[in-house]
Amino acid sequence: MSQVYNWQLGREMNYPYEGQYPESQFAFVFNINRCIACQSCTMACKSTWTFSKGQEHMWWANVETKPYGGYPQFWDAKILELLNRANPDKQFWSGPAGENPKSPYGQFAGKTIFEAPLLLQPASSRVLGYLPTDEEWNSPNIYEDNAVGPKGTRYKFHATGEQLPVHNTWFFYLARICNHCTYPACLAACPRQAIYKRPEDGIVLLDQSQCRGYRKCVEACPYKKSMYRGNTRVSEKCIACYPRVEGTDPESNGEPLETRCMAACIGQIRMQSLVKLNPDGTWAEDRQHPLYYMVHVAKVALPLYPQFGTSPNGYYIPPRWVPRDYLRQMFGPGVDRAIERYENPDRELLAVLQLFRRSNRIIFRYEIEEGPLAYEGPYRGKTIRIYNDTVIAFGKNGKEIFRTKVEEPLHVRPNKHQNSI
Ligand code: SF4
Ligand code: SF4
Repeated sequence: MSQVYNWQLGREMNYPYEGQYPESQFAFVFNINRCIACQSCTMACKSTWTFSKGQEHMWWANVETKPYGGYPQFWDAKILELLNRANPDKQFWSGPAGENPKSPYGQFAGKTIFEAPLLLQPASSRVLGYLPTDEEWNSPNIYEDNAVGPKGTRYKFHATGEQLPVHNTWFFYLARICNHCTYPACLAACPRQAIYKRPEDGIVLLDQSQCRGYRKCVEACPYKKSMYRGNTRVSEKCIACYPRVEGTDPESNGEPLETRCMAACIGQIRMQSLVKLNPDGTWAEDRQHPLYYMVHVAKVALPLYPQFGTSPNGYYIPPRWVPRDYLRQMFGPGVDRAIERYENPDRELLAVLQLFRRSNRIIFRYEIEEGPLAYEGPYRGKTIRIYNDTVIAFGKNGKEIFRTKVEEPLHVRPNKHQNSI
């Protein structure tokens, strides 16, 4: 075991290999508050990569409903339970979220999936995990869209004139792909070393010619994003649409394009890019990069289950309406600060949020041109000001991709339309 620094945990941790970090890393931010579960992302991925025989159960991109939905069933509750069983009642964070970029969420005092096996007698495999059953893969939408209230109060209606009870049920949509982790559990567990992290962009790939179908990656990935294909007897996983990210896809004309699931997103919740890394795997300062800004400056986007220890490169703007304890378990101690910031965005955050899905080309930098005051007035008991600033997105080559404004443009349709009779 090596010691590697995991900035999401604010400490060093055990990992089976030395840390190897690409210069730039595939990463993304999903704004949960905007997801409408249209599944366009899911189908874009399915129709591109997993439409063949033997891949019926594979959804490299999926959208599940929390708290009851999950693909495969209860994947996160199961791995949390295994960790708690290995390290009972000690899976907590020791400090509040802070300003230090090397430990922005405080320090995780519990055990990761790489550390927990050492507590077990006899010491189990390199990574703590479990292998889902076929039934668990085969029902990807069982328990979805369930928001069940307290026992006995479901479907209880009140007579006219009475007040309805406080609405205390909730759910939200969690869109997921492989996190192309900095410390991938799939890679750590593979006895064939068939899984590798690309040095140019940190995308985690599985070499099928090396795979012997032992399913160690499937067992180890805490996000369950490596999958076994029965008719080829090897495993497969999300490839981050790497020809698009490289700019070698015929559609891209040499310019880096976002993945298919990002490009298809109707709710405009997704932004994907490549972020620069320091030699120790922490993010290099890149103040005008939209992902760097959202993760490290505004701190409005948080990693999914950072306590697993894989240092996932998918970040989420947490949903505002969900009980905080549930969200803290899912996204760590940065949740309260992230939601406060998202609910009260300053001028810069409001402008950066307009960058989502105005183009399929990858944004590497943004600039803001100040505009006039567009609104001044009350909002949730406070007086706020909104400015109609212009935000400009630049691509890899430094050329402008697009510019857009904070205020939605108003289009007035002419009296006569093409389909007018
Ligand atoms: S999410 Fe799972 S499959 Fe993807 S890199 Fe991380 S450990 Fe591997
Ligand atoms: S396409 Fe976007 S809005 Fe629709 S389900 Fe996927 S992430 Fe949510």
